[in-house]
Amino acid sequence: MALMTAQEYIESLRKLNTRVYMFGEKIENWVDHPMIRPSINCVAMTYALAQDPQYADLMTVKSSLTGHTINRFTHLHQSTEDLMNKVKMQRLLGQKTASCFQRCVGMDAFNAVFSTTFEIDEKYGTHYHENFKKFLTMVQDNDLTVDGAMTDPKGDRSKAPSQQADPDMYVHVVERRPDGIVVCGAKCHQTGSINSHWHIFMPTISMGEADKDWAVSFACPTDAEGMYMIYGRQSCDTRKLEEDASIDVGNAKFGGQEALVVLDHVFIPNEYIFLNGEYEFAGMIVERFAGYHRQSYGGCKVGVGDVVIGAAALAAEYNGVEKASAVKDKLIEMTHLNETLFCCGIACSAQGFKTKAGNYQIDLLLANVCKQNVTRFPYEIVRLAEDIAGGLMVTMPSQKDFNSDTVVGRNGETIGQICNKFFAAREGVSTEDRQRVMRFLENMCLGAAAVGYRTESMHGAGSPQAQRIMIARQGNIQGKKQFAKDIAGIKD
Ligand code: SF4
Ligand code: FE
Repeated sequence: MALMTAQEYIESLRKLNTRVYMFGEKIENWVDHPMIRPSINCVAMTYALAQDPQYADLMTVKSSLTGHTINRFTHLHQSTEDLMNKVKMQRLLGQKTASCFQRCVGMDAFNAVFSTTFEIDEKYGTHYHENFKKFLTMVQDNDLTVDGAMTDPKGDRSKAPSQQADPDMYVHVVERRPDGIVVCGAKCHQTGSINSHWHIFMPTISMGEADKDWAVSFACPTDAEGMYMIYGRQSCDTRKLEEDASIDVGNAKFGGQEALVVLDHVFIPNEYIFLNGEYEFAGMIVERFAGYHRQSYGGCKVGVGDVVIGAAALAAEYNGVEKASAVKDKLIEMTHLNETLFCCGIACSAQGFKTKAGNYQIDLLLANVCKQNVTRFPYEIVRLAEDIAGGLMVTMPSQKDFNSDTVVGRNGETIGQICNKFFAAREGVSTEDRQRVMRFLENMCLGAAAVGYRTESMHGAGSPQAQRIMIARQGNIQGKKQFAKDIAGIKD
């Protein structure tokens, strides 16, 4: 099958029986829901850009499984160049949407599960790798979007899955049948879950023998019987429901999406199982998936950062201060921080290596350094953007005020005229353009898009401490001590 167009992707979602709940109710037509649609438009960009000859090299690639041309979001990376192209593709998407485009979690799950299933089969003679290859071929041929679902609710963090008072705190097997398994549990803050055709579930931590029933990985369609999602709300999200508020929304076209995904006795046929009790491989999937997703942030957040920097520069220009040396220096600092993140994304890709299964894995230490920087630099970039923009980004009257005919002035001036008079800046710049850039910055810095640019930079792909644990493991302090001993003449 050919690659889907953006429109075909959107229409394909309507064919699914995905169960979506929001504000305590079932949403029937969720595809056209004003709070959900921007996140669908965002995934649709991963399809639209793949149709554009200008981006063909970045967005499409030859499948290692079938030789067909596929969207890079469904690809198994075959080289360090592939890994770098992945990061460049994510930066491009960030620049085009200023949001989280969601499709990367599936791509990162494909690559982690592909290599891990190979190693499980090697040890146990299981058939998970064949299962996975068949599944991924179907995904590639149909150009599907797949959610990579990892984060369990986790309950009492001091206890292992098998020790939890409620066993559902981690996804687990509740019944084993000859033809498959039945699973229960949930995954929290699942990016793009509702907008995906399928899900790949993976464990979220390393496990011991007692956790066997929790050591499980599988694929299932998003509308599987027993599966449903509760939509995660975002700051200022109901602005999307207001009339005449497209400017107030800040980014009316695109947005991210997270949801709570619940598995209530979902049956998984054998052919879609990729891990089932081989608990010592749970940690390998987690480490590999997290590594890829920490690399991803050196692309997507950089692309979004490009747009934040651009918006701050526009705000300065509209105010007539773009030549002020203090403003120029802040833009330099923002660029420096943003490009440092890109360096990390490229570096962990360039230092990638071939796994036993044949696809390429990023350098784990550098990917964790990448993500650790992402937990900090976007915050500083946003701080500088707010500094340049000024307080108006959070104090400006509504779009309705700017358009209002209600008379308030002694000489018959309307609210709209008064707003346009006092919020005018430099000559030649419309107040509407100023409104747009201020609301856009508000959206990026502390509105709905701040989920993707700020808090997701902190916690997405693992919270900062998770990276510090990996940095400690990979940092080779013993080797570094030896360097010092050798040169300082210290003998053991
Ligand atoms: Fe992709 Fe970034 Fe969103 Fe993760 S946070 S899904 S890497 S856009
Ligand atoms: Fe993310």
